[in-house]
Amino acid sequence: MVLALVERLKVMRDSSQGWLSNRTKAVESSSIMAIFEKAMQLKDVVRLEVGEPDFDTPEHIRHAAKKALDKGFTHYTPSAGILPLREAIAEKTKKEIGIDVDPKKEVAVTAGGSCAVTLAMMATLNPGDEVLISDPAWPYEPSVKLAEGVSVRYKLSEEKNYGIDLDDLRSKISKRSKIIVVNSPNNPTGSVADQKELEALAQIALENDLLVLSDEVYEKLVYDTSHVSIASIPEMKSRTIIVNSFSKTYAMTGWRVGYAIAPDDIAKEIAKLNLYLNTCSNSFAQMAALEALKGPQDCVTAMADQYKTRIELLHRELKNMGVQCVKPKGAFYLFPDFSEFGLSSYDMTMLLLEKAHVSTAPGITFGSCGENHLRLSCANSTENLKEGLRRIERVLNDLRRKSK
Ligand code: PMP
Repeated sequence: MVLALVERLKVMRDSSQGWLSNRTKAVESSSIMAIFEKAMQLKDVVRLEVGEPDFDTPEHIRHAAKKALDKGFTHYTPSAGILPLREAIAEKTKKEIGIDVDPKKEVAVTAGGSCAVTLAMMATLNPGDEVLISDPAWPYEPSVKLAEGVSVRYKLSEEKNYGIDLDDLRSKISKRSKIIVVNSPNNPTGSVADQKELEALAQIALENDLLVLSDEVYEKLVYDTSHVSIASIPEMKSRTIIVNSFSKTYAMTGWRVGYAIAPDDIAKEIAKLNLYLNTCSNSFAQMAALEALKGPQDCVTAMADQYKTRIELLHRELKNMGVQCVKPKGAFYLFPDFSEFGLSSYDMTMLLLEKAHVSTAPGITFGSCGENHLRLSCANSTENLKEGLRRIERVLNDLRRKSK
């Protein structure tokens, strides 16, 4: 009787810790989402925090989904994705990157690039394995935490147009290192890694027997330069997981289709895990993605041209305001430096939101090296971007006046 009571008390004490796992408690909520929610409560906000294209999905792609729906293509698909889509992905990769990809063994279609990242981490990490992530970077850390890995940050060098600080990267490698994450074109900095930089990175991966997760979701958004995949460098295909997505290239964020191209043992595990997470990516969205790859590509060029013009506008205007900003070569973000004003990136974001009704993403979200910076997105109309800039300038002028 007494023993039973003691056992019961033990259980009660445990449940007083709450129902949540340490795993989920270790993952922070997105502060960009919190800003978005705050912005939604205000009127007339110019939204520069957005991480998705402002364009509609091109008509021929939408049409392919409608056709698939009408034909009853509404059932489960293989967890690795429909074979015609995997074949089209392999074909595109051969044509553009020059590597042979086996569509039956080396491609796994997922619910967007985010899902491919998390599943790739889960498929490869053991507890305590280290993942080298740039600072700043898009939030890969939550995926690493979910897979019980440990994130170690290496610097991007602002002075070198946010190129990889290779010495810093080398100094962060340990016996537990397993993966280097590289994201080019880069969110949030807009930097694009060139052949030389990727060759140096490949050398580090080869010397230290590391995998590379190459996030190429912005591959088509490059300006006056070209996209290079690290998987195209000799000996790298067998140790690279390419993550790609239809979200940015074809303005298909809500469709949730992305993919991983990986060595067959890893791709097989990603597809296996996908079964327990999503069963498969949405069936008719996969048909739309197939059309996206097979259909005309002028829509991609047209959207990229618009982003380029907008980036140039924002970069020029920021410079005119006296704000330092590395000129992006890719993606659709700018990452200007506001350190002159002595506010944390979070406080600066809040000030712009409250005083000027302009929502931005605080640089700290992307890592400690992002502090004092804001990420401004060009995924908004030229008119709205101009209005956003006018409002930002007013706040900055006020701050400068007050500090005199
Ligand atoms: N990688 C990067 C660098 C991103 O910016 C994003 C989305 N913002 C993703 C991956 C994932 O995109 P999705 O899941 O929509 O494919």
